[in-house]
Amino acid sequence: MNDETTGRRVAAAGLLPEELNVALSLRPSFRGRQVFRWIASGAATFSDMTDLPVADRERLAINDLYSSTVDASISSDDGSVKLKIKLADGAAIESVLLSDAEGRLTACLSTQVGCPMACAFCKTGTLGFLRNLGPDEMVEQYLHLAALRGRPSNIVFMGMGEPLVNLEALRKAITIFTHPDGFAISRRKITISTCGIAPAIRDLADNGPHVRLAVSLTAATDVLRSALMPVNRSWNLAALKDALLYYQQKTGDRITLEAAIMGGENSSVASASAMADWIHPLNVQVNVIPWNPVPGLPYREPERGEAAAFEAELVRRGINAIRRARRGRGVSGACGQLGDTLGAEIAMLPEDD
Ligand code: SF4
Repeated sequence: MNDETTGRRVAAAGLLPEELNVALSLRPSFRGRQVFRWIASGAATFSDMTDLPVADRERLAINDLYSSTVDASISSDDGSVKLKIKLADGAAIESVLLSDAEGRLTACLSTQVGCPMACAFCKTGTLGFLRNLGPDEMVEQYLHLAALRGRPSNIVFMGMGEPLVNLEALRKAITIFTHPDGFAISRRKITISTCGIAPAIRDLADNGPHVRLAVSLTAATDVLRSALMPVNRSWNLAALKDALLYYQQKTGDRITLEAAIMGGENSSVASASAMADWIHPLNVQVNVIPWNPVPGLPYREPERGEAAAFEAELVRRGINAIRRARRGRGVSGACGQLGDTLGAEIAMLPEDD
């Protein structure tokens, strides 16, 4: 089955049960559900699907179940693992398994090869943009991470790329992740993180999926935010606020705002105060995230006191704010750091692949 927008062939991991029936010529119709369940449980090949008739297993064995492979893996002491994943066309992406103090696993998934949004503080933003990922390529990232230590309970679309400019593929992947016959992951355990694509936030409010929403805010004055996040030149803080108010009115959900704090850049108490002013009357939690160093970018980590003062000012102004632990930092898998294992795979495809 081909992707409608890119024409790319979508592998089985990106198909729903009824689509599997058509793509794999399965009869009777419950066979699609069987294959769907096997994929969610991490089956490596069609031959592993022992409740399919032998004739089907033999017929399907020549088909590839997945379109991607793990190319490299880096682990760190805090339990995080970063995978470099090679795609069928030779491009590559990164995905991260995060582990918290309670041992809960979160899969941080990419939605694009590179990213077109060019946020000034983000490693991925320096790599340029190659293409959108298909739903199969998103689901397969989760499966590659699940093969390491079992299925992660939580998913964040916070890896490489801007999820809301690849909304239809993202919707399909979430439909697969939440399908009761397969992964059956609760929508409340899935988070979409966006840099602030205002029309797509309204689209999400109107048409779903109804999952958790996180927005990278970083600065609450247009001059500073436009300098750090070019998306603000298309949808400024007023447009973003309108979209978030609309989203909140429609869904009733609290929104997470992310503030990556760079020392001396957006770390002042005045910046925090401007953020508090902008937030009112939204119902949010602000994650204050000390910026993770990226070689070659002209920013510095905030001093501990800078991040603490920023957080304290938000709290003093009645905002629900917490400083977030920098999970994934040991594998350069923390916020804004993805892409350090990638080079030519982003910029160009191999000639003979
Ligand atoms: S922060 Fe997110 S949206 Fe911005 S460049 Fe990086 S990956 Fe893209």
